Order: sequence, then structure tokens, then C-alpha cells
Amino acid sequence: MDGSTLRRLVRPRPPQVAQRSVWALPEGMVPHMFAILPADWKVFSEWGWDRISAYADELLERELTPHSIDDWLTDWSRLARLIAETFTRLIIRTTTHTNDEAGQLRFQNYSEDVMPRARAFEQALKLKLLESGLHPEAFDIPLQRMRSDATIYREENLALHTERERLETEFSALTAARAFDWDGQPLNQAQVIAKLGLSDRETRERAWKALSECLAKQQAATDRIWVQLLDLRARMAGNAGFSDYRSFRWQELGRFYYTPDDCKAFHAAIQEEVIPAVLRLTEKRKRRLSIDHIRVWDDHWWVKPDPQGRPALEPFGTIGQLTSTIERVFSCVDPALALYYRTLNHESLLDLDARANKAQGGYMQELPASRRAFIFTTAVGSSLDVVTQLHESGHAFHVFEAARWPYHYQSMLEYMPVEFIECASMSMELLASPYLAADRGGFYAPPQLAQARSEHLTQILEFWPYMAVVDAFQHWVYENPDAARDTEQCDESWAALHRLFLPHLDWTGLEDTLRLCWRLQDHILVYPFYYVEYGMAQLGAVQLWANALEDSQKAVAAYRRALSLGNTASLPDLYRAAGVRFDFGRDTLARAVQLIERTIEELEGAY
Ligand SMILES: [Zn+2]
Repeated sequence: MDGSTLRRLVRPRPPQVAQRSVWALPEGMVPHMFAILPADWKVFSEWGWDRISAYADELLERELTPHSIDDWLTDWSRLARLIAETFTRLIIRTTTHTNDEAGQLRFQNYSEDVMPRARAFEQALKLKLLESGLHPEAFDIPLQRMRSDATIYREENLALHTERERLETEFSALTAARAFDWDGQPLNQAQVIAKLGLSDRETRERAWKALSECLAKQQAATDRIWVQLLDLRARMAGNAGFSDYRSFRWQELGRFYYTPDDCKAFHAAIQEEVIPAVLRLTEKRKRRLSIDHIRVWDDHWWVKPDPQGRPALEPFGTIGQLTSTIERVFSCVDPALALYYRTLNHESLLDLDARANKAQGGYMQELPASRRAFIFTTAVGSSLDVVTQLHESGHAFHVFEAARWPYHYQSMLEYMPVEFIECASMSMELLASPYLAADRGGFYAPPQLAQARSEHLTQILEFWPYMAVVDAFQHWVYENPDAARDTEQCDESWAALHRLFLPHLDWTGLEDTLRLCWRLQDHILVYPFYYVEYGMAQLGAVQLWANALEDSQKAVAAYRRALSLGNTASLPDLYRAAGVRFDFGRDTLARAVQLIERTIEELEGAY
């Protein structure tokens, strides 16, 4: 790591929490063992728990006083960041080289030897801090979450967590086993879903039917896991003193600033404001494609073909073109963001191409000991790859901006509210969008830019109703736990919600596949209630984009300021700092929908 670059990138620490010094130690006491804890994650990564445990024990035993708290938090943060970075580097190693057997073995050993012990040690330190009654500077927000976690923590739930993980693994094995024979060519689920974006309608229909046939084959196994998971969740909630799982889960997810009723109000606002706009777009699509009925394979909520039947965009040919163009785009948004991106590129912290022996999908991982981020994608040259690059870069900028905080729980993304983390990444997709034009250094000539942007905005608009189906379905499930154990009733509820929120789709003759397809949405099975956050974050991002249209510099400055607060401000305050409202009422949504619809019209009208 280049120290001088780091100093230029991070802002000065707030002075009140930065004064860590050996002078705080009682006279005659030598500086403790943390002085010799490796600073370099590479050295540390060779350590097993046998070596780490002495440091963990020392932190657990050290006396906590108003004088010692800053040193203690600093040392805890150093150790926690080293452990987190080592583990993350192993995730990176195994996903970038799936055939690296030594890497897989190291990952497995670390997962089994270090991580469970590290998690137990983290939990013990959190309790020690809470019991001390001390309030470190700029630490109220992490303390709020720690306190909330501690109140629902139950020893008897540990065995149930293990059981839950076993069922989740069983479900993952089921989804991984979704294999398809496509004219003799073996395809996985992601490859079949990608076919829903092709221009040939028959191919799309075939892809949907292949997916639903596969879901039907797995239905009995999936439903058995589902009922077991429901029972397990109810028991965990009961053990923690909750009468229903949703209240328990709300606290587990750290949802302090909105209620189930707020989510339902959001669904209602989507019904009022978004559905009419989607219906208007659908009418245009039908006219342009000369079709009478929109079927699920014409407008799948994940992947869809171009509404005008135009060929797919090809914004870049090589990864070098992608990174150099993206860097130019960022330099138009804000030179500091371009510098962050360049740093990742120079330090080989971008692995972007699709190649053999590499995992699927995309992610950003934080490297907390190095104050860096790592971006993983499987880019093939599509317009979606450009959006993904902007999105994951938004997450990476969050890591850079929050790196100024001295303590791990102030700077780690994992402990921040998802409703804001995703707002940071989704905002970057929109803030950067004007600069994707070739004459501003970007990827597209004017007609292609119009196509790329209207594709992106349509996706944003159409996501909200689908999100509402997924969320409303789960509210129904946990409000009606007995009915939800009967998967036929789940099918009914899902189909009814689907027809309500996506009324433009014609399911005639496909009713059975509609009833099946809640099983395609992994979140429902393994990440309960974790979905509405994306809808909220998207609304925050559109508000931020609206601000940028008024005054781009001011909007980007607010964006960076909010990111740099790390985990030291509440969820509504993070939104406020970004210049937007944490609000998902009808008025806010109506303004967002109008802006999106008007922009799509302007873009399409121009070409
Ligand atoms: Zn994201």
C-alpha cells in the first residue's frame, strides 16, 4: 500500500477521536502487545487462531475506562480489520480463480478455524463495550445497533442458526443444480435468464418455459425447505421473546426508522404512481413491437429485450477500454472520484472480465486494513456491464470516503444501513449518466446513449412494482404463518399480488408458471424481508439525480459528504446529508416517476 497516496485520499481524522497515544498508559507500563501486531495484512494472513487468540484475549481482559476506551477501540479495530481483510482476500482469491485448489483449502480452513472464533470474540467485545456504559465520540450509531443485537441474542438460538444455515445450503445446492440442456449445450440458470433479453421472441418464450419447468421439477424439494425455514424462524423469534417473526426480523435487520406500515404505504404509493406509468410504457412497447399481449418473456422484471427491437449495445471491446472510459466519466463527475477509481486500477484491485475458472456475477468487497476496495465483475461488453461498473464503483467510493474514521464499526459498510449503501451505488449510475456520451469522453454516440439511458430508466421504473410484489408477499407470509405453511396458499397469494402490481403481463395459459415463480426469488427463501431496501435506495438515488440536474456540483458534494459520514449518522440523517429525503410517500414517488418518464420521452423523441 502506498502511504502517501492514502494520505492524499483520506480526509483528516476528527481530532477528538484521533489522539491515541502511549501517554494514556499508566506510568511505568510498557506499550502493550498491539505495538507488534503486523500492519500488513499479508503478514497477518499467515496467522491462525492460535496466534490471534492472545490479542483477542488481551482486548477482552483489558480494563475499560474513559481514558483507555480510545486505545481499546483502536486496537480492536486494527485486529478486526486485519481479520476481515484476510477473509475477504480469500473470497477474492477463490472467486477469481475457482480452480485454485490451494486457495479453496485456505478459504475453508480460515472459515472453520478463524471466522467462528472471530465472530464469538466480536460478540464478546460488543457486550463488554455495552456493559461499560461508555460512549465513545461519534459512536452512538454503532452502539445503537450493538445494543439492539444484544437484546435479541439468545444462546438457545445458536443451534437454530446452524440448522438454518444447513437448510440455506440445501436450497443453494438446489439452485446450483438448475441445469438446462439447450440444443445439446449445457446452460446454468443465469445463462437461461440472459436469453430473456434476446430480440427473438420464440427464444425468449423457450427460455421462460425451461425455467418454469425446472421450478416445477424442484417444487417438492423447495417447498419442504420452505416449511422447515418458516418453522425455524418462528422458533427463533419465540426464543427471543417475540410473538411473530416479522418483529424479530425487523430488529435483526436494524430497521429503526420505518415500520411494516411504512412499507405498505410504499406499496400503495407504487400502485398509485408507478403502475400507470408502466402501463403507458407498455402501450408504446406493444405498438412498436406490433404485439397485442405482453407475455412474461417480453418484459421479465430482470432482463428484457429492447422495446424497439434494436440490436443490443456494444459500448466497449476490451476491459482496458472499459476502465479508461469509466475513469474519464468519473473525472467529469468529480476528480476525487476519478482518483479513487484510478487507484483501484493501478493497484490491480479490479477484476472485470468474464473468463474460464471465474465465478459468476459482480461484487464490491471492502479491504478495511488497506483502506481499499475490490471490484469483481464478469463483463462481456454490454450496456449492463457499464451500469454494473458505475454501481460497484459507487460502493467502492463509499469505502474510500468512510475510510477517514478511526474505528472499524464507524467505517465498515457491512454495519451501515443497506437502504443507504445501495443509494450510494444506485446514485452513481445516475450521476454519471450524462457523461456516458462519446463527445464527453464516454461510450456512446447520441442514438446509442438515448437507447442505453432509456433502457436503464425503464429498468428503474419497472423495478418498483416487482419489488412491491416480493415485499408484500413476505408481509402476507409472516402475518399468516399457518396459511403460509401451505404452499398452495402461498401460490395463490403470490399470483394475486403479481396480477395487482404487474397488470400489464398476460398470463393466459401460463397460470401454473405464475404460481410457481416466487421460488425463483432467492431472497424470499433465504433473506427474509431483505428487498424493500433496494426500492427505497432507488428512490433516494432518483432524488439525488434530480438535484444534480439543478446543480451538479452541489449534488455531488452532498453525495460525497453523506458517504464520508460512514456509520456515524442515522439513516434519515445520511439521506439528509445527501440532500434528499428518506421518504417513500406518494409525493416523492410521483416526482421521481415524472422525472423518469419525461426523460425517457425526451431521449426517445430525439432519435
Ligand atoms: Zn449494490
